[in-house]
Amino acid sequence: MTCDTEDPGKRQAYLDFIENVQPKLSEFADAFNRRLAGHPAVDELPSRYDLMIKCMRTDIDIFSEENIPLQIEEAKLETEHSTITGAMMVKYDGEEKTLPQMAVYFENTDRSIRESAWRGVVSRMQQDTERLSEIYDELIQIRHLIATNAGFDDYRSYIFQAKHRYDYSLDDCLQFHDSIESVCVPLMHQIHEERRDALGVDTLRPWDVSEKSGGGVDIHGRPPLQPFDTVDELVSGCSNVFHNMSPEIGGMFDMLRDRNSLDLESRKGKAPGGYQANLEKTRIPFIFMNAAGTQGNLTTMIHEAGHAFHSCYSSELDLIDERNPPLEFAEVASMSMELMSHPEWGEFYDEEDARRAKADHLEGIVCFMPWMATIDAFQHWVYANPKHTREERAEYWLGLRRRFGPRTDWSGFEELKETSWQSQLHLFQVPFYYVEYGIAQLGALQLWQYHRKDAADALSRYALAMSLGNTKPLPELFGAAGLNLGFGEEHVGSLIGELNEALGEIQA
Ligand SMILES: [Zn+2]
Repeated sequence: MTCDTEDPGKRQAYLDFIENVQPKLSEFADAFNRRLAGHPAVDELPSRYDLMIKCMRTDIDIFSEENIPLQIEEAKLETEHSTITGAMMVKYDGEEKTLPQMAVYFENTDRSIRESAWRGVVSRMQQDTERLSEIYDELIQIRHLIATNAGFDDYRSYIFQAKHRYDYSLDDCLQFHDSIESVCVPLMHQIHEERRDALGVDTLRPWDVSEKSGGGVDIHGRPPLQPFDTVDELVSGCSNVFHNMSPEIGGMFDMLRDRNSLDLESRKGKAPGGYQANLEKTRIPFIFMNAAGTQGNLTTMIHEAGHAFHSCYSSELDLIDERNPPLEFAEVASMSMELMSHPEWGEFYDEEDARRAKADHLEGIVCFMPWMATIDAFQHWVYANPKHTREERAEYWLGLRRRFGPRTDWSGFEELKETSWQSQLHLFQVPFYYVEYGIAQLGALQLWQYHRKDAADALSRYALAMSLGNTKPLPELFGAAGLNLGFGEEHVGSLIGELNEALGEIQA
């Protein structure tokens, strides 16, 4: 369906699955969970099923009949959010453009073009600010009710159970935010200060740097990086990258190419975005993306290939459930592949551009962590205080921006800044899904540390841990690769410290 959104047959089949098959599936899954977890012989199962049974018991515990209509209500609001944001178009340069298409202008070396593009985007978003605030108000009330119906004090405690977060707590997340504040935020300010200086401006404005990724126009006025022109170049370059790293992952990537499991080119009728999906029947991973020749596309390709290697390594496990790892570890497979492939980026670039691409990537990691903490901390407050007013929410958000955000000058856009959280889809669509990226990044950075010392050793750690799929709790998955699951300042500080050292070497 995502490969061909204009085919009515495919769309119909997809809607049929969503509307008619999936609700039945969740009903049957609940019945199945109860049958299995309540079976007298369940404790005699081999220990590799412990985690699966534990998750089933949680799902049974938090299930509440009263929540079914509320969840339908929630899904309708989420769909309305998708419809509203999907319909946002901006008239620019004489053409109607989508918001992702507008992002190209934020890398333009002409500051006035960046500014007018940014103004175009935000004035379009402002047309829907009021309705999006209403939707979020309603979602918070519904989610709070879902939690209390299931016997929890608030939605935070409920969602930790619903997401099977057994191995880290609310307090661990708060500690993680503190560590990011003391480790990443000062470094981010330093990176932004260099940007301000290189651009020769008094203050950075919102069109000079991305609040989320720290990226934006090249500070030396060079045109955007262009690692490849055609999808064939992307595929053959990546095949070389992975073969150079190890014949094993190189072979896995070639298998995807030879089995037609890559849909990479951008074309009319294709859904936006990128993903890796494991086709459960053949157990062959499938990668979808919209490649247009940018550095972002190259990292996406390597990222999704990392997910695919994870699928390949765990493909021998019997059950679908065993082959679906927790997100906190799935993203270790993909994010570590981005980092470990650095030495091979010369397949796409000359030496200077390879340095530039790597430095941008590493700076992006530093700058993303504070944004991740902002979004996570915001949700903690929102659901711990479900009776808050919009004024209080705006005040809390602005406080978080002061704590974690860049020192960007928003003058003239003060009101807009109060609701700038609305640009983060996860808040509406997948509540509390965000800290996973940060946790996984800590794991990825540790694997990269091993890789910088001994590449073969790191890749064998990778293979071993990925082959476990979803059969072990999170700390054991981390442990299998020799990684620590921790949130303290010292741990985060040592990882970001080494990243900063590597950044210095690249830029030297
Ligand atoms: Zn991913």
